[in-house]
Amino acid sequence: MKFISTRGQTEPHSFSEAVRIGLAPDKGLFVPEVLPDLSSEMLSWEGLSYPDTCYEFFKRFATDIPTDELKTLISGAYSRFDHSEHAPLVKLSDGLFVQELFHGPTLAFKDFALQLLGSLYERQVAQSGETINVLGATSGDTGAAAINGLLGKSGVNIFILYPDGRVAPLQERQMACLEQDNVFPLAITGSFDDAQAALKDTFGDETFSRKVRLSAVNSINLARILAQCVYYIYAWLKLPVERRAGATFVVPTGNFGNVLSGYLASRMGMQVAGFRVATNRNDILHRFFSAGDYSVCAVRPSHAPSMDIQVASNFERFIYFSLGRDPAATRRAMEDFKRNGAVSLTDLAPGVSMSSTRMDDAEIESVISKVYEKHNYVVDPHTACAFKELDEFETTVVLATAHPAKFPEVVKDCVGSEPTHPSLEALKSKKIVKYPLSPDEASIKSFILSKQS
Ligand SMILES: *Cc1c(COP(=O)(O)O)cnc(C)c1O
Repeated sequence: MKFISTRGQTEPHSFSEAVRIGLAPDKGLFVPEVLPDLSSEMLSWEGLSYPDTCYEFFKRFATDIPTDELKTLISGAYSRFDHSEHAPLVKLSDGLFVQELFHGPTLAFKDFALQLLGSLYERQVAQSGETINVLGATSGDTGAAAINGLLGKSGVNIFILYPDGRVAPLQERQMACLEQDNVFPLAITGSFDDAQAALKDTFGDETFSRKVRLSAVNSINLARILAQCVYYIYAWLKLPVERRAGATFVVPTGNFGNVLSGYLASRMGMQVAGFRVATNRNDILHRFFSAGDYSVCAVRPSHAPSMDIQVASNFERFIYFSLGRDPAATRRAMEDFKRNGAVSLTDLAPGVSMSSTRMDDAEIESVISKVYEKHNYVVDPHTACAFKELDEFETTVVLATAHPAKFPEVVKDCVGSEPTHPSLEALKSKKIVKYPLSPDEASIKSFILSKQS
């Protein structure tokens, strides 16, 4: 299997190459050259463990990795989850299910992708014999998940920029209390946007970037998107057979990364009724799906900070598939968007129902209380966004993207007691080790250089 770019001006790449470089050279996103039809094959995966399901899926794509090696790599990647089913499906009531995606090391769904990506990076380093330096910027969950995916991997250093004092205290501890000497949390003065800009400048120096073999962790990596397809298929196979075709997945989203994976799984033969994109007050995706308006507004902080995003970087893949896999049309749409900050796409044919909702902070609070009263189940503020207008669906699968204990203040106010988790409790007594830095290219480069052995 080869991978091509949504913009059509990149040579086909192998899986490992596409994963290593992340963004395609023509600035498009990698997609499989053909989407395999897995509709009958996936039925035979019912009852498999999570890692085995993942292996069956990935062997169709990662065809340049020997199968026995792939199997070992995947079982290692999913060995740090605290639930035997990894992504259990919980029934709240007739026709209403929640898939818990928060049983990984950082208690958020990003672990599914980043634990696997970390193992893929480690394999690459072992093969090339060259150390890589991973650099990223985070407003919270991504940094913690990326760090935990690369923890203790030999030949990999990880540097994560985050705005000092502006990430949740527990999120900071998930990055800065790990006691590992390949991990460098860089607490910068300024905002997330400052961190992002400094990151861009650093990557922009190609000589430096090549010299230290700088690698990005961002949400557009092909391996992340494919890794996430697996839990949709796993949940779908756990549904009663008669409910599968009528099911709608409801996905709290900001970047369109998570829901895109479900969409791809459906294009590969997972038959469902559709997908619901659930946004917080940063509602660009809701405006698009409800009114065709994809114009960028300023980001406003919310109770669901990991969805405080206005540019949905994975949306380009959805556009590509919904425009009949036409790279020229995709290029035009993305150029329009860059020029005007807005795009209207009337010719989209997604092939499956896509709907959307938006939820502001006050409603997030009332939903957390209501779900608790009605189902005796505690949801985090991101997951709460999914609980809106669900009556219209015959069967609903809500994706729970984070453990409520990651957001103790908001949740406590809504349910009366503070949610806890042993792994977060353990972090509270550890010493924070972080590196204060100013958000400019020169400081970042000299810090990275000082850590090369
Ligand atoms: C990152 C994140 C999201 C949003 O994911 P997308 O890939 O942007 O769709 C939702 N919830 C939580 C808890 C997250 O960490």
